[in-house]
Amino acid sequence: MSNDERIELAELLFPNIKHDRNYYENMYPERKLKEGAMVTRFGPSPTGFVHMGSLFGSFCDSVFAKQSNGIFYLRIEDTDQKRSIENGIDGIFSDLDAFDIVPDESSIVGGEYGPYIQSERTEIYQTYVKDLIIRGYAYPCFMTEEEIAAIREEQEINKTKLGIYGVYAVDRDLSLGEIKEKLNNSEEYVIRLKSPGNSKNEVEFIDLVKGKIKFPENDMDLVLLKKDGTPTYHLAHVIDDHLMHTTHVIRGDEWVSSIPLHIQLFDILGFDRPQYVHTAPITKKDDGGIRKLSKRKDPEAKVSYYDEVGIPIDAVKLYLATILNSNFEEWYLNNSEKSIDDFTFSFDKMAVGGTLFDLDKLNNISKTYFSRKSGEDVYNETLAWANKHDLEYAKLLEENKDDMIKFLSIEKDGPRPRKDIAKYSDVKEEFSYAIDSMFIEENYAKNESNKVYDINLVLDYINNYLDLNVTNEEWFNKVREFAVENGYAATPKEYKKNPDDYKGHVGDICEAIRVMITGRMKSPDLFSIMRVLGKSRILDRIDLYSKIYK
Ligand code: GLU
Repeated sequence: MSNDERIELAELLFPNIKHDRNYYENMYPERKLKEGAMVTRFGPSPTGFVHMGSLFGSFCDSVFAKQSNGIFYLRIEDTDQKRSIENGIDGIFSDLDAFDIVPDESSIVGGEYGPYIQSERTEIYQTYVKDLIIRGYAYPCFMTEEEIAAIREEQEINKTKLGIYGVYAVDRDLSLGEIKEKLNNSEEYVIRLKSPGNSKNEVEFIDLVKGKIKFPENDMDLVLLKKDGTPTYHLAHVIDDHLMHTTHVIRGDEWVSSIPLHIQLFDILGFDRPQYVHTAPITKKDDGGIRKLSKRKDPEAKVSYYDEVGIPIDAVKLYLATILNSNFEEWYLNNSEKSIDDFTFSFDKMAVGGTLFDLDKLNNISKTYFSRKSGEDVYNETLAWANKHDLEYAKLLEENKDDMIKFLSIEKDGPRPRKDIAKYSDVKEEFSYAIDSMFIEENYAKNESNKVYDINLVLDYINNYLDLNVTNEEWFNKVREFAVENGYAATPKEYKKNPDDYKGHVGDICEAIRVMITGRMKSPDLFSIMRVLGKSRILDRIDLYSKIYK
C-alpha cells in the first residue's frame, strides 16, 4: 500500500479521530520533577476489591514514589469488560484508603495527566493507532473466530508456534480495495500490529529485580484495538505509561513474557522505554509445598480479612515492607523509634522468585508493633476496633478504662517490652483477668494446669505478708522469705539439688498466686498485676478459686 493509500485507510477506519498524536504529546508534557524522582502507578481492573498481591504492588508503587519525591498515581484498567463489575472502582478506593495508600493522582483526586480511567481514553488510543496505520505498523484484520481456530489447529498439528504471525497473518497485506470491499460488506475487524520483528533476533532488557533478560524479538501481529474499538492491555499500557510519564512500571511477573511486544511498541511509537520492575507472586506454604496465595482458598488474600481479625493496618504494612525488602526486618527490629517512612527501599533487595506470605511471621511483626505502643494507645486502638467488631467488649473496655490502661502498660518500659499481643482480639483473651465481670469461674477451667494449689498458704501470704507499696525487688524478697519459712526452696536451683528436702520452690508459690488471681499459668509481671488489683480484689479472686477447688 502506498503512503496515500494508508492515509486514506486511516481516515476510513477512524473518521472521528480529528487530533493527531502531537496534540496529546503537547497536552501531557514531561513532568517537572527532580532528578531521580520516580513516577509509579497502580493499575487495577475494577473487580471490586484489592487482594493481597495487588495491595503489595500498590504498596511498592507508593513507597518508591514517596521516597524519591515522585508521583504515585492510580489508573483504573477497565478495558476488559469481563473483569469489571459494577461499582468495582469504589471497592478499590476504599481498600487502599483503609491501608492509607494514597495516590497523588487518580480519578477521584484528579491530576494533569488524566483521565485516569482507561475507558475514558479511547480517543487517545485510537489517535495513536491511526498514526500506526498511516506509518504501516497496523492493519485491520477481518479473520473470524473460526478462521483463527482453524489456524491454531493447523499449528498444533504441525507443532509450530501458535498465534497470528508471518504466513498466518493472512490480512496483513490486503490491498486498499480488498479492505474497502470487506468494510462495505460490514465485516467485523480488529486492528492488529504489523510486527516488524523477527523471532530469530534477540531483544535484551534489564528488569530492576530480575536483572538482564533475553527474549526472541516479537513477530506476532497482536491485537491492538478490539472489535469495539477499545484497546488491549498491551496498547493501553504503552500509551498510558508514555503519556502519564511513568518512569517505573512495577507489575506482576505474569507480564514478563509480554516484554518483547511492549518494547517493540514503545520503539515503533517512538516513546522512551520505562524501567520495568516485575514482582514475584505472593506465595504461601501449603501441604508441604509452596503455591500462589489464592483469593478463593485463603481468607488472608482478601485485604478486609485483617480488620476483621484485628491485625492493625500498620502492622500489615510493616509486614509488606518486610517482604518487599529482605533487609527491612532487621532494620526495624534494631530501630525501635523509626517507622517505614525512615527506611530506604531498593529494587535489588526484592525477591526474584516467590514472595512468601507467612501469617506467623506477620503475627511476630505485629507483636513487635504492639510492644512499641504505650498501654494507652493499645487501649484506644483496641476500643476503636471493638466498637466495630465486638460491642460487648467495647462496653466493658469503656467501663474499665483506667484499670485496662494500667494493665496494658505493664512491662512496657525497658529494653524488652512485652510481646503477647498480635491482634486487637488478643487483648480480650490475654487480659481476661483484667475486668472483674469477665473474671468468672470458667477462667479457671481454661487454665492449662491441672494442679490444685494450696489455698490456705496463699491466703496466709496475702493476709500477713503482702505489702503492695514496695518495690518489685522488695516484694520478691518477701515472697522468698515466706517460701523458706514454709518449707519451700528460695530458688529453683536449690530445689533441684535436693528436691526431697522441700515442698517446692519460690516459683511454685508465685504460680499459685498467679493462677488464683489471673486464672493463667503465664501472665505479665505478677506484682504489677497485684498492684492494679489491690488487696480486696485479690482476696475476692482467691475466694472464687476456693469455691471451686475446696
Ligand atoms: N491491569 C493490569 C492487571 O490487573 C495491571 C498490570 C500493570 O500494572 O501493568 O493485571
